[in-house]
Amino acid sequence: SLSNRLQNVFSKLRGKGKVTEDDLNEAMREVRLALLEADVNFKVVKDFIAKVKEKALGLDVSKSFTPGMVVIDIVNKELTELMGGTQSKLAKANKPPTVIMMAGLQGAGKTTTSGKLAKLLQKGNHKPLLVACDIYRPAAIKQLQVLGEQINAPVFALGDQTSPVEIARQSLQFAKDNNNDYVIIDTAGRLHIDEALMEELKNIHQIVKPDEVLLVVDAMTGQDAVNVAQSFHEQLELTGVVLTKLDGDTRGGAALSVKAVTGCPIKFAAMGEKIDSLEPFHPERMASRILGMGDMLSLIEKAQAGIDADQAKEMERKMRTAEFTFDDFLEQMAQVRKLGPLDQIMDMLPGMNKMKGVKDMKIDEKQIGRVEAIVRSMTKDEKQKPELLNHSRRKRVAAGSGTTIVEVNRLIKQFDDMKKMMKQFSSMMGPKGPKGGKK
Ligand code: GDP
Ligand code: MG
Repeated sequence: SLSNRLQNVFSKLRGKGKVTEDDLNEAMREVRLALLEADVNFKVVKDFIAKVKEKALGLDVSKSFTPGMVVIDIVNKELTELMGGTQSKLAKANKPPTVIMMAGLQGAGKTTTSGKLAKLLQKGNHKPLLVACDIYRPAAIKQLQVLGEQINAPVFALGDQTSPVEIARQSLQFAKDNNNDYVIIDTAGRLHIDEALMEELKNIHQIVKPDEVLLVVDAMTGQDAVNVAQSFHEQLELTGVVLTKLDGDTRGGAALSVKAVTGCPIKFAAMGEKIDSLEPFHPERMASRILGMGDMLSLIEKAQAGIDADQAKEMERKMRTAEFTFDDFLEQMAQVRKLGPLDQIMDMLPGMNKMKGVKDMKIDEKQIGRVEAIVRSMTKDEKQKPELLNHSRRKRVAAGSGTTIVEVNRLIKQFDDMKKMMKQFSSMMGPKGPKGGKK
């Protein structure tokens, strides 16, 4: 998958203490191939690569604590930009009801998405009305009615003998009479874009003057979805796109190209057949998902802002050579705490929450003082060699620091866990091996 391929490229970069122009070119070649293979429009790919290269070369990455990470960060930001940057919200009419017209090819998921959108609006305390304007597909009206019943939303239908334009027109009055603040118009689709379909949609458009024209596209169809979007956009002035079937084995191409090609933002993503599987589309989350990194990226950002590079390298060296002592523990804790609450950081590290013992490793502000007291009550030898701390020494330390033996025991365990965590943390974040450590 695209995720796997990109992760491979980046795992090579990640450990690098220095990223040369050759490294960058090589990585970008692979990113380019991965995107093309994921069915991203080739012009979009070309522009994307050019932008990432320009930004990466413009930054003096060698100065960074983690140059490989800087490149990944740039890629992530550009992917996010490609998909619109920030979340695009649903328009709202000055005077209710807000009219949302759904459009798209047959089978794209218009009817299903209409129901899901109604459900989403209900959660926001709105009163959506569903309107059945697909009078052609057998049982299309019934399908919408079933969805409406399921979520307890009214469905406006006039059978299949009234024209869709007329149904749409009358639905607005119905909404006003019944205090529906949103009207969602489900329309018919065809297997292919054709004149008759477009004419009908344009006519409905003219009558209801929608605040939103959402094109529903099947993400599984890749670049075809983008072509469909472009044709619809030329004729209907879309205001947004809904990507459906993102739960399937999609290659990601549609999500990455549609905004760039049509200029239309993706507003929602559907990932399943269930009624509550529609979400507002977040470009930054999608980018992270594509990069397969979860919240690693926000952690990287924080680390870059908060950790002193030289200190981190020295710490890492100590960790590797097992020189890590209780004094370092205190210092390291201060460094890591700059990143934010420790338990939050732990949640962000992949695999970390699965690690044994980590869950009880909550270090809060108040505890820090006690931890310091405990460490200060150790002798120099004990700080250097924690294994010296047998039961009677632990008792002495507890008494000396005004804490309890339970706390002392817990800290020593935390120290061991911390060592493990920092080992994992530094191998993910920083240069690997003795060679990578040099600038
Ligand atoms: P329409 O012709 O555009 O109205 O499409 P429908 O709403 O009837 O959906 C066509 C098929 O796609 C139905 O079987 C839906 O259950 C399915 N479908 C719609 N959205 C999704 C989705 O996000 N994920 C999956 N897996 N299936 C979907
Ligand atoms: Mg339908």
